[in-house]
Amino acid sequence: MATLLSDLPGSTWTNWVGNQSFTPAHTAAPRDEAEVVALVTQAAERGLGVRVAGAGHSFTPVVETSGLRLDLSALRGVVATDPARRRATALAGTRIHDFYEPLWDAGLALRNQGDIDTQHIAGAVATGTHGSGSRYTSLSGVVRRMRVVTATGEVRDIGEDQPELLRAAQVSVGMLGVVTELELDVADAYRLRQQVGLRAFEDVMEHWDELVSTHRHFGMFWLPSEESGALYNLDGHGRSMADQCYVKVYDEVDPDVPDDDTEGRRVDRCYRIFPMVYDANFHELEYFVPLDRAPEALRAMRELMLARLPESVYPLEVRTVGPDEAYLSPQLGTATAAISVSGTPGTDYWDYLRSVDALLTEHDARVHWGKLHFLTPERLHRLYPRADDFVALRRELDPTGMFLNDHLRPLFA
Ligand SMILES: Cc1cc2nc3c(=O)[nH]c(=O)nc-3n(C[C@H](O)[C@H](O)[C@H](O)COP(=O)(O)OP(=O)(O)OC[C@H]3O[C@@H](n4cnc5c(N)ncnc54)[C@H](O)[C@@H]3O)c2cc1C
Repeated sequence: MATLLSDLPGSTWTNWVGNQSFTPAHTAAPRDEAEVVALVTQAAERGLGVRVAGAGHSFTPVVETSGLRLDLSALRGVVATDPARRRATALAGTRIHDFYEPLWDAGLALRNQGDIDTQHIAGAVATGTHGSGSRYTSLSGVVRRMRVVTATGEVRDIGEDQPELLRAAQVSVGMLGVVTELELDVADAYRLRQQVGLRAFEDVMEHWDELVSTHRHFGMFWLPSEESGALYNLDGHGRSMADQCYVKVYDEVDPDVPDDDTEGRRVDRCYRIFPMVYDANFHELEYFVPLDRAPEALRAMRELMLARLPESVYPLEVRTVGPDEAYLSPQLGTATAAISVSGTPGTDYWDYLRSVDALLTEHDARVHWGKLHFLTPERLHRLYPRADDFVALRRELDPTGMFLNDHLRPLFA
């Protein structure tokens, strides 16, 4: 592949769910970091914007650019594991599921992960992708070092010796430059027991603190209607699912506990328990409220959806995420409950999502950068106390804003 931008026309890109699409001036798939540097340098000389596409699993226009879109799929693989320090280093385009075998073979595993495992690690980290468990951070919270090609073409190794920069880089939605490699804090390999079952909504609210604190992982789907479960492949085993909570708890088990897969119960390696199977399409909004305010917010959400929004048939998913220090993280300084709702593709779901936004804003909700949201500059600065620090460092690293786009500029220019 030539690394001359003029030889690289743009191709149309569409995200995984199909609600974002654009055609940039140039598209390139660099084979290594040196090619990334060459491409970013040329784009800077021509005054072009640059954005990287990961696996395209964000619902927001976070990849869009009229300039240069980079595809880092070739920068893929776990390149080092260090069991003594519990560290793993991977190239930016490594998919979450690429970590499984190399880490397990080294006696290691990701500390936590989300519902799917096809994202690029750099893409997942960029938006603060999380799983569930109030003692576990998002994937961004376990990043200990990142290599970033900045606007000048310089390669910066941002590590723990530069804590301010690392906190800005951990959740940066691609705004500090092109990430080529990441080092993560990981766990010793562990096995999980998953237990699922239906419980009444008020029963779950009354036992909220116990459910959240007793289990390594607690998550649930509240199902507004009878047909809701099928939309996310949730099986009620013949029981009525309307207005019920599909509760999932995961706990670590000793290595000698045998594999199990009976109704409502599974025991297996952690990475075989975490991912869900999605074959449905949906457009999702996810907001985060401080953990101690979750039952109050969830009761209000249930009321809103049942009383005023009967068209909202997708389950409401609820997870918890532990606190971290990243400047743009929804978990900055506080554990949160992640509350997500989905709109049906092809329908006008914006009024519904705006009602959810208005309600959760009353509970000081922060947003998921990869999912639909209505964040304004005023709310950004009120709810993210280190937003100014992020913007200052962003301007220092990228004075011309080549890594911004039309979606991010109003918030972060
Ligand atoms: C079915 C489904 C399930 C999901 N489940 C969860 C979940 O359980 N938990 C959760 O928190 N989220 C979840 N998400 C959201 C998803 O994890 C995030 O949107 C994530 O950012 C997507 O990663 P990606 O690799 O697809 O990145 P993309 O969506 O392609 O990009 C995300 C951002 O990262 C930037 N980026 C990517 N690579 C680089 C790089 N090398 N350098 C600089 N910037 C880069 C992009 O420019 C963009 O700004 C889900 C999404 C879907 C569609």
